[in-house]
Amino acid sequence: MLPPGITAVRGVLSAGRALADLTWLRVGGPAEWLFQPADLADLCSFLGALDPAVPVFPIGVGSNLIVRDGGLSGVVIRLGRGFNDIKISAPAAEPDDAGGDAPGIVTVGAAALDAHVARRAAEAGVDLAFLRTIPGTIGGAVRMNAGCYGSYIADHLDFVKCVTRQGQMITLTKADLGFAYRHTNLPEDWIVISAQLSAPRGQPAVLAQQMADQIARRDASQPTDARSAGSTFRNPAGYSSTGAVGDSHEQKAWWLIDQAGLRGARHGGAQMSPKHPNFLINADSATAADLEELGEDVRKRVLQATGFTLEWEIKRVGTTGPKKD
Ligand SMILES: Cc1cc2nc3c(=O)[nH]c(=O)nc-3n(C[C@H](O)[C@H](O)[C@H](O)COP(=O)(O)OP(=O)(O)OC[C@H]3O[C@@H](n4cnc5c(N)ncnc54)[C@H](O)[C@@H]3O)c2cc1C
Repeated sequence: MLPPGITAVRGVLSAGRALADLTWLRVGGPAEWLFQPADLADLCSFLGALDPAVPVFPIGVGSNLIVRDGGLSGVVIRLGRGFNDIKISAPAAEPDDAGGDAPGIVTVGAAALDAHVARRAAEAGVDLAFLRTIPGTIGGAVRMNAGCYGSYIADHLDFVKCVTRQGQMITLTKADLGFAYRHTNLPEDWIVISAQLSAPRGQPAVLAQQMADQIARRDASQPTDARSAGSTFRNPAGYSSTGAVGDSHEQKAWWLIDQAGLRGARHGGAQMSPKHPNFLINADSATAADLEELGEDVRKRVLQATGFTLEWEIKRVGTTGPKKD
């Protein structure tokens, strides 16, 4: 059976496809349908023909997702090979260029991995090193305004190309996307297909060293070998390290969780990492319910202990499964 409105596709369309192995946390139920379009034309014609009542949800590599145990209804769209091109233009500096080198321009498909983009850019002498330790795709990075080490994708984005739920191609500028901390106002069912980024120039060897240092710092402070989805909760808004109220996210969620005595807390197979308490990990065959229930309990107990309300950074999608006995 095919989704309503669909008669044929050139890509891969699977019914009841398990999603657990497509997410970093390795939990959750199936997608009613999973569509992996062959190319842009396939994606546009699929969405144009699909009954508008059917929900659509794009995923990248699931590094910021809890798919609930009951799975996702409608169509999950995952971009692959036809959408992972990386093109880099890094013109040589003009001899009379007093202001420094022109920025490098990176045009990249939404399925390209952030780490791969960072490496390829560095080899061409373009500094997108901050992307090296973010394990998602460019599509996920745009949606989440991913960032680290003081840089965000929003700082480098010129424009993105998207396909709307109706199957139309559209170009959105940075202003259209309304970037904020870990947020864009892109509709949930629009698919980012590519992005153009610009970034300052750098020496390839220096950038390679910087990325190696970042990886070492990550490995020292985060459970990078565990099944996680990165930071579980957003750093609360409005508090700087000096206590001044403003547009800042310097109050760290991990510190609040530590204050509440919840480093290492467990529920079923889920655990708040002993290494970094804002990382919720699948420590031992957790279900999505174990993970989400532990997260909700942490939110409640942090509020009681510190007065701060933590908000989820991990996206939780789908329906809950049957209750365990
Ligand atoms: C070990 C670890 C470390 C991490 N460190 C960081 C970090 O330093 N900084 C940071 O910002 N994040 C970090 N993360 C979180 C995560 O990697 C980012 O949020 C990443 O951008 C998610 O990309 P993804 O492709 O995995 O998206 P997914 O998790 O698959 O999806 C996340 C959201 O993006 C949307 N999405 C995905 N692809 C598309 C698309 N093509 N078009 C439209 N929407 C799309 C989904 O619908 C969903 O809403 C970390 C995660 C892990 C596991």
